[in-house]
Formats: sequence, structure tokens, C-alpha cells
Amino acid sequence: MSPPETKISPLQSPACRGEATPALRRPVTSLWGVGGERAAQLARLDIHTVEDLLLHRPRRYEDRRHFRKIAELTKDEPATARGTIVALGLRRFRGGGKSVFEIILDDGSARLHCRWWNLPFMEKYFAMGDEVFVYGKLSETKPRVMTHPETEVIEGGEESFIHINRIAPVYPLTEGLPQRWLRGLIWRTLEKFVAAPRQSAAHFPEWRAADEKLSALSRGAAALPSRANAVHMTHFPEELTDVEIARRRLALDEFIELQVQIRARRKNFESHATALPCGGNNRLIKPFLARLGFKLTDAQTKVLREIRQDMGGAHPMRRLLQGDVGSGKTAVAACTALMALESGFNVALMAPTEILAEQHFTNFSRWFEPLGLRVVLQTGSRKGGEDGRWKMEDGKRVRPTILNPPSSIFVGTHALLTSGFDLPNLGLVIIDEQHKFGVAQREQLVRKGRYPHLLVMTATPIPRTLGLTLYGDLDVSVIDELPGGRGQIKTFIRTADKLPKVWEFIREKLAAGRQAYVVYPRVEESGEKGLKAVTKEFNNLKTLLAPFRVGLLHGRLKSREKDGVMTEFRAGGVNALLATSLIEVGVDVPNATVMLVENAEAFGLAQLHQLRGRIGRPPPPGSSGAAGGAHESYCILVSDAKTAGANERLKVLEETNDGFRIAETDLKLRGPGELLGQQQSGLPKFRFGNLAEDLDLIWQARELVAKMA
Ligand code: ADP
Ligand code: MG
Repeated sequence: MSPPETKISPLQSPACRGEATPALRRPVTSLWGVGGERAAQLARLDIHTVEDLLLHRPRRYEDRRHFRKIAELTKDEPATARGTIVALGLRRFRGGGKSVFEIILDDGSARLHCRWWNLPFMEKYFAMGDEVFVYGKLSETKPRVMTHPETEVIEGGEESFIHINRIAPVYPLTEGLPQRWLRGLIWRTLEKFVAAPRQSAAHFPEWRAADEKLSALSRGAAALPSRANAVHMTHFPEELTDVEIARRRLALDEFIELQVQIRARRKNFESHATALPCGGNNRLIKPFLARLGFKLTDAQTKVLREIRQDMGGAHPMRRLLQGDVGSGKTAVAACTALMALESGFNVALMAPTEILAEQHFTNFSRWFEPLGLRVVLQTGSRKGGEDGRWKMEDGKRVRPTILNPPSSIFVGTHALLTSGFDLPNLGLVIIDEQHKFGVAQREQLVRKGRYPHLLVMTATPIPRTLGLTLYGDLDVSVIDELPGGRGQIKTFIRTADKLPKVWEFIREKLAAGRQAYVVYPRVEESGEKGLKAVTKEFNNLKTLLAPFRVGLLHGRLKSREKDGVMTEFRAGGVNALLATSLIEVGVDVPNATVMLVENAEAFGLAQLHQLRGRIGRPPPPGSSGAAGGAHESYCILVSDAKTAGANERLKVLEETNDGFRIAETDLKLRGPGELLGQQQSGLPKFRFGNLAEDLDLIWQARELVAKMA
């Protein structure tokens, strides 16, 4: 989190305002023994204030009440031992360019050699006869050696009780900052400001206010430690179980703070932004639905009702639409667009890839042009030059401002964001597949208009924890039902040695007239290497599947080439398509019923789930008996993983089709950054909160904050 100076702290009680700098906000240099050099070191750990220091979380704990005998140390499990230095020395070799420093510890049970390579300055930290804690595992057993262990010299004197005969915290450090010094500083700071453990009073009014607020809002809060107590327990727990109890309390405070910020942002937004009236009048939606070829599912209808409320409401819509692959988000987007278009506003629809933008363009053109609406494509490779002109489908260059609004929908990739384009009369922005866009990008587009309505669509079911934090300022609609008439997707995990059988199976399906995707992850690797790998794979595949025809699709093809390949595949001219994860989002080929994913272990679960959503697509309405979704579809995940864990992870996909369950598993296993992709920005950092584990706390925080005045 940002340093407290820059954030609105909900925990700040009015009582302490107006005083001189509250103790918590004072710089660390106000503490005894912290000079300029130490302050600079602490700053590298993002510790600037007293509060930062008190919230500096130990990396691990060491139970210094019990030690392992040196004779009992193992290669498998790190442990703490303690011994006396009986020998030490630095040896330089290769003309002094390389060195090894060694100390030998004896604890009466055995001797332990501790070695540091090429860190000659280690020498100055140790002396003969020093008592030393050492933490690590053996790298050799004869003699017993630890390489680069963590050590701490035991010093006698007044403060030794801080470091020994207790559970001692071990902190993240930075160069030049001794563990022992930092532990002592934190101890003394706690002594000064925070009452003894197990007592609830603290000298910080902010913390007391947080406690009071919590107990006012929640009856359950009585069972929690006070904030001061939790901080104390974090640093100097009496038992290791205290650590988690304390973490949960401090995590709850973080989540409350975030929810307060989200609420404030939302309120602020609502008080500044007036909604454009985009409720529509059904003039276009009616004929659209009549010609669509299917009836909306109940889930789609329910979601559209929520959206219509927003679009005709007093505040601009800020809504996240979640729906598993194939749940029919596009039709919902189309109806939403029509509401704005009916109301005389233009619409922008943004997709993460060109292929997907072009697919939307094709669909929306087919749907909207008969209604007399204009559909304009704007992608990286199809734009009208630096001067901000649009290149129209018919080849004419037209400035957007003279497009003669209303009634245009602009479809594009992030190129829609290119500066210089001002989308005229913009009433609604729809972002498909949100997780590929950063929050910042989202806001960028919005600023182009006067607070247009915003609909964000994602097929990555965002685990609720993330939804409530990352998208806490969005309302959420969920399409929780798939349109009927879908075939099942059966998923199998196979090891690479079973590939011959898999290819046989695929050939069978191709012979029966179906089509297949072969997904190969390495291709998106940068540079020549990735390209070479895929070209080789492509040639392999051609041989393997001959005489069937194989196409190749990857990210570095020109947009026109991609188009060509996709068009051919869609038309059935190509039987199997070797593709990168590029096909992950949205592209529809109903006759493709088989997917093989190579090196499946290299993908995230959520991504694999998205990928397999490409098969089992329903046939387009009106086409009788097309193979597609009405037939069984097969997804074969080939994993070369040596570790049992990786295959265990993939099993979830065999077991369930529930995107939410899959996403939550993915979040637990790989963390939020991986799940959302690297482009995702704006994810809050928590010191104590854990987005993968703390769903209950996040809910609790949300409910508590909703109760606040
Ligand atoms: P996604 O939510 O993954 O974007 P799409 O919007 O692409 O899903 O819809 C998947 C397929 O289902 C499309 O072919 C679409 O035409 C079809 N579809 C959408 N809604 C319905 C419905 N209510 N009944 C039948 N088919 C539908
Ligand atoms: Mg889609």
C-alpha cells in the first residue's frame, strides 16, 4: 500500500486531527537510534514512518526455545541450530577473484561448516568464540556443511532476551541492515507505543478508533485481538498459532480500508458524473431479437434488465458482466449497444485481439446493418493514419467527427485508445474480455467521452475475492446459465508417451468430418526461437495428420494472414489448425470439436478453460444439423510435467466445467498476478491480506463497510 501520508485513512479518528503529526505518521528518524543511514536502508524496504515499521511483516519465525542438535541436522528440512565458532577463515583463489569464507560451529554434538562463496566481507561479522544461530539445511553430510545459511551472532547484554529463548521474528532485510538491529528497533518501538501483549490499549488513537469501529459494527469482533495486540503478536508471538490470529485481524483492517476507498471513489464518481440517457425504446432491439434466430436465455434476460436500469438511471453504468465461455455475452452486448443507439448515442466496443475485434465486427455488421446502423472497424492494422481519420470498409477515409452521428458502433482493439481519436457522441463503452486490459486503459477510454456508460465483459470467471477488490467499484452481473443444445466437452489428461494414440483419435474425428485445434504454447515466446519452434511443430503436424490439411495461426502473422487462415478454417478448407493461445478468446468454429493442448502444464487453469471453450460451439442458428456443439467435443490436455503437482492441478479441468471453481483453484495455486495476466494493473498490495485465502474476510469487510454511515 502507499505510504499512509498519501492515503485517506478511514481509521483515523477525528480526535487526532489537527494535532501535530500523529505518532504513527512520524518518520522513522524520530525514533531513538535511527539516523540518516539507517533511515535510507529502511526506506529501501518501504519503511518510512513509525507505522510502516510496526507493520513490517516477519518473513518467518524461529523458535529459539528449542534447537536442533548439529548432529541431527538433515539435508531435507531447514532447522535452527546454535553453536560456538571454533575455527574460521577466508580462502582466496584464482588470483584472488574468487573466495570462500568458512566458519566451523560446535555445539557439543557435532561440528558444522558454514560456507559463503565470494562474499569475503562476511569475515568481518564473525570472531572466534562467538555464539551463533544458524538456520538452513545441510548441503553435505560428511563433513556437515551449510552453504550460505542464515546466521545471527548471539550477543549477551541487556537486550539479549529480545533475540533468544523466544519465538524470534526474522524480517526481510536490505543490504547493510542487520537482523538483530531491526528486531531490537521494532521491539523498542512496540515497548514505547504499544502496551504489553494481551492488553488492548495502544497509544495510537487511530488504532483505538479502528478497534472501536470494528466492535461497533460487528458482534464477532470481540473475539478478535485489538489492532495493537495483533501487531504485537505479529512480531513477538507467544505461540506460532498467534501469528495467524494476528494476521487475520490485520488483514481485516486492510480489506475494510480498501472497501472504504472503493465506496468513496464510487460516491465521488456518482456525485460528479451525470448519466447520459441511454435507456432506449426497443425500436431497434425488437427487430434485432426477432431476427436473431434464438430466444435469449433467462439469465441473459435477467442481466439485460439490470443493464437497462443502469442505462436509464441517474449515474453512468459501471458494470462487470461475467459469463462463462459460450454463455452468450455477445448477444447481451448487442442489446446493450442497441439501447444506446436507440437513444441517439454512439457505442465503442473494444476487444483484446484483432481477430476477436474482427469477429465482433463481422457479427455486429451482420446484425446491425440491416437495422440501418453503421459499424466501423478500428484495429492496429486497419486505421486511418496518424491524422486521426477512420478508414472505412469501403476504403473511403472519413473523419470520425463527420461521421454524422448518431447510430455508429466502433469496434476495435486497444487501437481505439490511440490518442487523436475522439469518439464522437459516445454513450456506451463495452470492453470484451476485461482481464486483458488494465484498469488504466479502461479509464483512458472512458475519458474520451463525457462519462459514457461502461460495460465490462469477462469470460474468465473472476474469483469473488478478486472481483470484490479489483472490481469493487463495479456492479456485477452474472450469466449463470449456458444456452441449451450444447454438447458436452469431455476433457482428458494424457502424458506425452500416449501421443500416438491421441493422434489416432484425432485422425478418426477428422475422417468423420470434424475439425481440430492443436494448441501449442511456446509460440508466443519472443524472438526467432519461438517462431522456429512452431514452424518445426507445424511440419511435424503436417506429416502426422497427412493427408488432412493443417493451418497455422500465431501472433506474429500479419492481421491479413491471420484472417486468411481463420477464414479457411472456418470454411472447412483446413482440417486442423495449429495455433497459439491466440485462439483463447472468442473465435467461433462450430465444426471444430476436438482440441489438443500440448504442454498443457505451461498454461493456467483459467486459460485452459477458456481455450477449451473454443470447441463445443453451437451451430449458427438456422443451419440444420451442423456438427458443432450438439455433438460431443473432446479436449485432450497433454502434459509433460514431471511433477505430480502439475498434473494434480490439471485434474480440476477433468472434474469440472464450472469456470468459477476453476478460477478459484487457479488463484490459489498461482496467485492473482498470474491469473489476471501481467497487463493487469491496479491490483492492491496487501501486507497481511491474502486474496486467494481470505474470501470470508473480504465479505466481512464489505458488509461492515456497507453498514457504515
Ligand atoms: P461468450 O459469452 O463466450 O462471448 P457468445 O456470445 O460468443 O459467448 O455466444 C456463444 C454462442 O452461443 C454464439 O454462437 C451465440 O450466437 C450463441 N447464443 C448466444 N445466446 C444464445 C441463446 N440464448 N440461445 C442459443 N444460442 C445462443
Ligand atoms: Mg465472447
